[in-house]
Amino acid sequence: MSGGILSEIKRWGNDLLRIFFPPVCHVCGKPLVEGECIICLECDMKMPRTMYHTDPDNPLYYKLIGHSRLERATAMFGYVRENPYAALITRAKYDGHPEIVDNLAERYARELLPAGFFDGIDLLQPVPMFRWKKVKRGYNQAEIIADAISRVSGIGVGNLLVARSHTSQTKKSSYQRLLNARNIYSAVPEAIKDPGLQHVLLIDDVITTGATIVSCCEALYRERPTMKISVLTLAATQSF
Ligand SMILES: [Zn+2]
Repeated sequence: MSGGILSEIKRWGNDLLRIFFPPVCHVCGKPLVEGECIICLECDMKMPRTMYHTDPDNPLYYKLIGHSRLERATAMFGYVRENPYAALITRAKYDGHPEIVDNLAERYARELLPAGFFDGIDLLQPVPMFRWKKVKRGYNQAEIIADAISRVSGIGVGNLLVARSHTSQTKKSSYQRLLNARNIYSAVPEAIKDPGLQHVLLIDDVITTGATIVSCCEALYRERPTMKISVLTLAATQSF
């Protein structure tokens, strides 16, 4: 069977899928129209963007430097648990829709690239996930985000960190989470030795207490105290 016929059959298949299962906006639930992807134009326009990348002294940066040395920090949008935009993160994480964070990360990277946010960054480092958790979910959403940013920025994705405990963070107080997170991540000494590696961009889907990111920074600084670290997440709580 020729490739032309195969691609024609695939196109029919996709058209049929759209007829019986039209893609809907992951924020408002309305059917998407031609040219829209993941979220509708209206929800995209109304997204509570932080615009942190335009302000180096933004609240997220200040929240994190209270705990760790940092170059810069940004997040695409504000995260409020009850807000429908929070579903973009939870659906990607728990409902098997990694394409949501892939698409959002690519959009965000296209905004950040001309603003110079990636200037001087040598490597993208997703926050690692415990092996058993990744096997269960099938993917690490932070890696999906890092891969999407890599496509746009041309910066490689690293493997400098490992997660080594499996204690759940969800039911702990923020202080307990901070203490717990401190012992979770460690840097891979062989991977971090590269002298060309000066500035790493840590990547995660959402920042709430900041404990995870701070723990990752500490793990990297333990192996390379002079390393520069910046932070990028798709969402961040803004109640600092
Ligand atoms: Zn919508």
